[in-house]
Amino acid sequence: MSTATRVMIVGAKGRMGEALVRLAKQDPRLALAAAVDRGDDLAKAIGECDALIEFAQHAATPDVAKLAAERGKALVIGTTGHTAEERKAIAAAAEKIPVVFAPNFSIGVNLLFHLTRIAAETLGENYDEEVVEMHHRQKLDAPSGTARRLGEILAEAAGGSYEDLTQHGRHGDVGARPKKIIGMHALRGGDVVGDHTVHFANIGERIELTHRASSRDTFASGALRAAIWARAQKPGLYSMQDVLGLK
Ligand code: NAD
Repeated sequence: MSTATRVMIVGAKGRMGEALVRLAKQDPRLALAAAVDRGDDLAKAIGECDALIEFAQHAATPDVAKLAAERGKALVIGTTGHTAEERKAIAAAAEKIPVVFAPNFSIGVNLLFHLTRIAAETLGENYDEEVVEMHHRQKLDAPSGTARRLGEILAEAAGGSYEDLTQHGRHGDVGARPKKIIGMHALRGGDVVGDHTVHFANIGERIELTHRASSRDTFASGALRAAIWARAQKPGLYSMQDVLGLK
């Protein structure tokens, strides 16, 4: 094993890809083995790397995961918005290689996940829960992967599933708020890198947990840290909580 972790960036021409390439070049613990984007031959580029880092588009992930599994490379997936079928392809790859799959690689957001679980378990069922996120106008999927994860944590704490408990937006004659739902709301505009707030509201008091990202570098440096970590792991599906030792 050479000391520097050789990474291949998939989606290298995108907003996240640009940050990943720039930071990988600056970090002595890393070597940039390849930077590929749509139309490039991934199978050809993969040879020299220890880990792939994909921040591209959800439909691209199954092929990237299959290729990484065939070649025995660690894989870091930052892409969001996957379908159930695409998630299955990620799980299948994780049987053969270490995969770190996280909707958000920032350390602050992973602490937000941790605090959200504690708050939900402590406050209990009498608090109405709503997740509000805001992102830049170019974002393609909604809700954000981070908001989805927050919704999953709230659903787990309530003993239910994300699919059953979440309600996305409100419009028209909706009536009084049912007790057992998790409200999900996505705002889009300008150049917002990523804001997430979890609201817990009861009669007489309200708690809000908020994280705001102001630079993509926070996600990119977390993903690069995950690639260094993943290279030394056994096959399996890991989260950023595993990388940070928050579990
Ligand atoms: P972007 O549109 O700026 O960049 C995506 C890039 O991927 C583009 O250059 C595109 O050409 C390329 N691409 C698309 N299909 C490809 C394929 N099949 N093979 C190779 N390259 C391909 O988007 P972005 O803002 O960089 O975000 C990319 C993804 O990362 C999104 O899903 C976004 O939600 C997610 N994201 C995750 C985190 C996190 O921390 N997990 C943070 C920010 C963004």
